[in-house]
Amino acid sequence: MKKSFLLSLLIFLGCKETSEIVVQRPTFGIVIHGGAGTILRKNMTPEKEANYRAVLTEAIQVGYEILKAGGSSQKAVEKTIHIMEDSPLFNAGKGAVLNANASIELDASFMNGKSLDAGAISGVRTVKHPISAAIKVMEASPHVMLSGSGADIFASEQGLEIVSPEYFYIERRINALKQVQEAEHAKQTTLKPQEKEFLKQQLYGTVGCVALDLSGNLAAGTSTGGMTNKKWNRIGDAPIIGAGTYANNATCAISATGWGEFFIRSVVAHDISALMEYKGLSIQEAAYEVIHNKVAKLGGDGGVVGIDRNGNVMMEMNTPGMYRAQMDALGNLKVKIYKDE
Ligand code: ASP
Repeated sequence: MKKSFLLSLLIFLGCKETSEIVVQRPTFGIVIHGGAGTILRKNMTPEKEANYRAVLTEAIQVGYEILKAGGSSQKAVEKTIHIMEDSPLFNAGKGAVLNANASIELDASFMNGKSLDAGAISGVRTVKHPISAAIKVMEASPHVMLSGSGADIFASEQGLEIVSPEYFYIERRINALKQVQEAEHAKQTTLKPQEKEFLKQQLYGTVGCVALDLSGNLAAGTSTGGMTNKKWNRIGDAPIIGAGTYANNATCAISATGWGEFFIRSVVAHDISALMEYKGLSIQEAAYEVIHNKVAKLGGDGGVVGIDRNGNVMMEMNTPGMYRAQMDALGNLKVKIYKDE
């Protein structure tokens, strides 16, 4: 009697477990970053920190609502990035860093994980939302990447919002350019360590977003002003598909931020996906491998955010901080700045 009861209980529990594995509910999730770098508590005021956390929260909630309502990961990524492009806090859209001619050159890219379609723009000066221009290149041109004035013309022909270059300038970036240029002339030899830290912090600050929607589609987007004091129409990793941005429904969606030259050479975003696809690594293991054993060993620094096809989230960096946030299907929100959070 006792034996048969135990047997039935085991069979019942076994069935229960099996049915839980088979019935996998569709889920969704979203992760964003607002740049990685020398972001230290000692350089932050409570007010500044609160401002960053507020804009990260506002941005991710826009994408979360789209996904929750059954919208596409593409829409969620685009609209979330708009909020960060509109904020002067981040190095993308308004508030982007200045190049050596005290002008702006904006880069962005987008990839759709279902179709593996992608679009990118580089060096635009008049497009209010560069991420939308990258998406238009994907949707309305036979190309993947457009650059310079041609990309500006294309965006305008596509009916995207065009602004005068002055729209993007903010005083903080004008001062940062002066300081970086002065330091470059002085060859940085006379600078104190804190000054070097401060200058490094002025260099980067890209924004990015990755999302998984209820249909199981992944998308990734990245938008940046690049590097302060960049010359010769320098292009970083942000608009390079496979380096700064990658999405594939078979694996994950990735957006990167950091020292672009190293991220291009390490083909960061695609490498993470490839480690998952060919070696069966988890998104966390793959990102750790690429950031710490590849980028760092070459001498580069930065971070990545990602989400895989099951909604697992990753945020990895080898810098003291990265502005970042994540939200899952239940609406759990995490906003973080420092590496040790
Ligand atoms: N990766 C960007 C670049 O090199 C900069 C950044 O992420 O802040 O252009």
